[in-house]
Amino acid sequence: MSYTKKIAIIGSGPAGLTAAIYTSRAQLDTTVYLGIQPGGQLTTTTDIENFPGFPEGIIGPDLMEKMQKQAERFGAKTIFETVKSISFDTNSHKYTISSDTGEIIYDGVIIASGATAKYLGLEGEEKFIGKGYHSCATCDGFFYRDKELIIVGGGDSAMEESIFLTKFATKVYLIHRSENFRASKIMLDRAKANNKIEFLTNKKITKFYTDEKEKLNGVELENTQTGESQKMNIDGVFVAIGHIPNTNFVKGKLSMDEAGYLIPKHRTMSEIEGIS
Ligand SMILES: Cc1cc2nc3c(=O)[nH]c(=O)nc-3n(C[C@H](O)[C@H](O)[C@H](O)COP(=O)(O)OP(=O)(O)OC[C@H]3O[C@@H](n4cnc5c(N)ncnc54)[C@H](O)[C@@H]3O)c2cc1C
Repeated sequence: MSYTKKIAIIGSGPAGLTAAIYTSRAQLDTTVYLGIQPGGQLTTTTDIENFPGFPEGIIGPDLMEKMQKQAERFGAKTIFETVKSISFDTNSHKYTISSDTGEIIYDGVIIASGATAKYLGLEGEEKFIGKGYHSCATCDGFFYRDKELIIVGGGDSAMEESIFLTKFATKVYLIHRSENFRASKIMLDRAKANNKIEFLTNKKITKFYTDEKEKLNGVELENTQTGESQKMNIDGVFVAIGHIPNTNFVKGKLSMDEAGYLIPKHRTMSEIEGIS
């Protein structure tokens, strides 16, 4: 097959691999940079129940493997490298990507580097992710029908997600380290008006407890003012304390907001022609 244009896709989550299916099927010479998390965030979870075409659900890593194979079927290449920076010549429309092992020049670049959910930062917490410890209420709330949950956070996301979780859980404890909330008044009022949500302010989680199967079943709660601690039994913990966009490699080159999310100029296109 003779390709005319070389396209780089940065990221191998659902966004990157979907883009790769389209570009490779359009016979563009496609290279996907896998980054440090090949397959993206869905590889950290088990059951995915909201992806069309899988009525029984599908395990996250299996879904991502299928997406990668589908892109490879049309010729997309994947390289196990992380992009360090992009430089470009706007006259010649050439884009140089520097990664772990060197530089490659492309005719176009698609950035699909996603974001990383923030967790609490407790020692050893990684082993509980997906086993009672979650960062996405709309993804995993369904598994907690008639259970009791904690949600940690004080912004609009925490309010919105706590309300969402009450569709399933019998009780949701909203834990926040102070009495001041970043959430908008309307969202805070809405959460406070929900009789399944109980606010526990001036509290933070300092430790997880587990059952014999190593599934989280309780937390140690510390009062941030007095330092006193108490154990609390719980079926699951959700965090809604934000995401960190993986955009450092284009810092100063493309417009981004304060948090680091890219600001497109038109639809998904950046202000630099050839970079989406
Ligand atoms: C535990 C968990 C469970 C979830 N469950 C569900 C669910 O059931 N249903 C649902 O719809 N959503 C779910 N989500 C949300 C879903 O995972 C995300 O919405 C989705 O993965 C976002 O896709 P993305 O392609 O934009 O980015 P990501 O999945 O974040 O992928 C980003 C990719 O970019 C790569 N990358 C980053 N920086 C670089 C770089 N410098 N160079 C090269 N590559 C780079 C990474 O290696 C990664 O491959 C869940 C999320 C989590 C964390």
